[in-house]
Amino acid sequence: MKLSRRGFLVAAGATAGGGVLSKLGLDLGPSIAHAEALKTRYARESTTICPYCGVGCGLIVSTMNRNVINVEGDPSHPINKGALCCKGQSLYQVATSPRRLTKVMYRAPRSTAWEEVSWEWAINRIADRAKATRDATFTKKDDQGRVVNRTHAIGALGGAALDNEECYLYGKLMRALGLVYVEHQARI
Ligand code: SF4
Repeated sequence: MKLSRRGFLVAAGATAGGGVLSKLGLDLGPSIAHAEALKTRYARESTTICPYCGVGCGLIVSTMNRNVINVEGDPSHPINKGALCCKGQSLYQVATSPRRLTKVMYRAPRSTAWEEVSWEWAINRIADRAKATRDATFTKKDDQGRVVNRTHAIGALGGAALDNEECYLYGKLMRALGLVYVEHQARI
């Protein structure tokens, strides 16, 4: 019988282990295996991307009755081929943790307290602040008279949770506003 080095080590380990267990009086006879039903058996599967870092590992999210019941690596994804790091493996908790924030929290300048605000209030506040800063700092021409239409006063940083289409729209909007400092977490 031809045996590879790895195969030899596995066989030797199993033989030696079996001998030890026999001497300890343990029953090594064949046992009946019981396959447990997969908890994802009747779940709906959706694919998505891990939001934590720029690697962009693929995931399969299983849901039942609109609740997330499992998150695992997508074996057919070309980047991770089913593997996940420890952060990706804990993604299930992002959906299920009781500590997950589901409301917008705002801390006013110089305040030490967070207050709950509506999404509408937060979006309007961001828009107001962006417009005020842009209006105050917008440069149409540089020192040599060349048209630049830019502001150096606002920076934009895209997150790994954004997919390609969202990144495209985000980049378009920031460039349209005249931002120069446009970055993405994947490049940091
Ligand atoms: S699973 Fe880990 S390596 Fe992959 S994208 Fe998420 S954080 Fe990055």
